Amino acid sequence: MDEEELNYDDLLETAYASLPETVKSGERFEIPQVEVINEGKITIIRNFVEVCEKIRREPKDVLKYLLREFGTAGDIDGRRAVLKSKIGHTQIQGRFNSYVETYVICSECGRPDTELIREGRVLMLKCEACGAKRPVMVRKSQPKAQPKDLISEGNTYEVTIEGVGRRGDGIAKMGKFVVYVKGASKKGTRVKVRIDKINGTNAFGRVVP
Ligand SMILES: [Zn+2]
Repeated sequence: MDEEELNYDDLLETAYASLPETVKSGERFEIPQVEVINEGKITIIRNFVEVCEKIRREPKDVLKYLLREFGTAGDIDGRRAVLKSKIGHTQIQGRFNSYVETYVICSECGRPDTELIREGRVLMLKCEACGAKRPVMVRKSQPKAQPKDLISEGNTYEVTIEGVGRRGDGIAKMGKFVVYVKGASKKGTRVKVRIDKINGTNAFGRVVP
């Protein structure tokens, strides 16, 4: 494909065509949104127990995951979680999304109706909707390693502009993601992009210094 020909509509069309049926029909599970407030140096997730109930996971397990990801301490306080560091909403939502993708969503059918079961030393994700069963793939935190298939909102990455969209935005690729970069319209340049929004395998961001 001639990269000059890349444009949003074609890319979106292609992205759309490759989506699983459940996504197309709008049945895709909506990951619950966390409500975050920062108070001085602490961070409160106001609806923590509620979002955990929506994904049917134990709040203490989800909290343990978040604390490990952020390298901080924290506790559950009533329906809230209190983290002893200042962490933004985008970061928390991003990690919460990763938790859901790893420990909740069935990779076969995309539904969240799953349960975690332990078989020997292996943690398995069993889907009640389609019957699929797979070991949980826990990604090791690798801040410096290739973020190819794991990009999250609010984070900044270095990319090469491979094409220019019809609306003048730069287009880059990172693993399975097509990244639309506002403010980068020169092909071949290497820029830092901050991701504002991820929608399926499309990511939207802008150039940062
Ligand atoms: Zn399934």
